[in-house]
Amino acid sequence: MSDIIRRDPRAERIARNRLHPLHAAMQPVQASWMGPAGVIRKNPHAVGFIGPNGIKRIDRSGAQQGGSSKRSTTVEVLLPLHQVTEPAFYIAVVPDMVGGRLSSHDRDLLGLAHQLAGTDGAVLAIVFGEHKESGFSTAGVDRLLEITGEEYDGYAPEQRIQGLRAVDNQFNPRHWLLPDSRSGGGELGRRLGASLGERPATRVWQIKDGQCTGRAGAGQQDISRALPRLILAAAECAEPVDETRHEALPVQLSTSVARSLSRIDDLGAVAVDPAAIPMAEAEFIFSGGNGVKDWDLFHRTAAALGATEGASRVAVDDGFMTRDRQVGASGTWVTARVYVAVGISGAIQHLQGIGACDKVIAINLDPGCDMIKRADLSVIGESAELLKALIDAVDAYRNEAKRDAA
Ligand SMILES: Cc1cc2nc3c(=O)[nH]c(=O)nc-3n(C[C@H](O)[C@H](O)[C@H](O)COP(=O)(O)OP(=O)(O)OC[C@H]3O[C@@H](n4cnc5c(N)ncnc54)[C@H](O)[C@@H]3O)c2cc1C
Repeated sequence: MSDIIRRDPRAERIARNRLHPLHAAMQPVQASWMGPAGVIRKNPHAVGFIGPNGIKRIDRSGAQQGGSSKRSTTVEVLLPLHQVTEPAFYIAVVPDMVGGRLSSHDRDLLGLAHQLAGTDGAVLAIVFGEHKESGFSTAGVDRLLEITGEEYDGYAPEQRIQGLRAVDNQFNPRHWLLPDSRSGGGELGRRLGASLGERPATRVWQIKDGQCTGRAGAGQQDISRALPRLILAAAECAEPVDETRHEALPVQLSTSVARSLSRIDDLGAVAVDPAAIPMAEAEFIFSGGNGVKDWDLFHRTAAALGATEGASRVAVDDGFMTRDRQVGASGTWVTARVYVAVGISGAIQHLQGIGACDKVIAINLDPGCDMIKRADLSVIGESAELLKALIDAVDAYRNEAKRDAA
């Protein structure tokens, strides 16, 4: 290997940017040095490394001891495997799987399920239809039951209840947990309660000593009651699982599920106006800042992508966007799965507002700006040119899809 020292500008940028998720991992860690009195000093904090869940890990094997004088790198930690070979009982969880993936609400629910399962029980997740999730094992699923078939696709609560009844007969779970959400879990849970003839505890945010507490009275009151079998839990009802790995062993239904009477006909999803979606709930936000020179083109691109529009404070102050579109500390804190920042520098007040976004894409002229440092994907270039290219690419993709369908 050559002795030439190679520089990594991206790593250097991340090391300078304390807002970047990998910032801590890029800091030089000095384990020992000569003090002014000639005594060797040791830094006990340099021992170990930060694991993927942000918790400090110390490797006692010696490989990591004393840290390193070079930059520490993020090391993938193999979390301890939690195995339940012969479950004494099951805790059944029916995640919403919004967009085919576990939502943060689903993960909280799996965390709650583990509190109820203890060491003897197994958490059984029941997933309907196709999904894109690959992290069931790290989310705390011990057994995974996938119920597929075209009859479960779309809005099919009656058929899903038939499936859950079959699960109930076969596994007889000690508890049923569903997210009390508007994404399906709230309705499915109440239907399951009616079908099983059991009264569910709703909007539960705490379970303790055999009692559960749920919100009531338009969020003004709490109701405590003995823990029932069917629990519809609110978001943040528990900490998600992050310290253990689970088997997510596939299990099957032993009996076929009866078809429900098709009293509901799903006519498919209705296109909604992305502008009508509240910013805090939007999944895909296309945000413009001071670097947007052609606002008409910006609006056309957002429409072509079907994205909800957002803006930096400068764009709002300059009158290009309305105040309710402002993202950031003094605007709306957004939780989009995809956030596209066009010509936004990434001031701290703006970055605070997008802290919970999943994937950030930056379009900017300045490769050194803070938004590029925060982004998962960056495109360096003139915004107008890139937006035109984006519209062309979307059109080409749609035309191709139409040709294939014809
Ligand atoms: C108390 C307080 C609260 C605030 N709250 C918020 C808030 O909630 N939200 C918020 O956004 N701001 C807030 N701000 C303002 C914030 O500090 C910044 O001033 C603001 O976010 C900057 O907006 P900007 O990134 O659009 O503009 P600029 O900082 O001017 O950045 C423009 C960016 O566009 C790029 N660019 C320029 N031309 C082009 C081009 N042709 N193509 C591509 N890229 C280009 C530049 O490289 C630059 O990175 C707040 C400030 C204060 C003091």
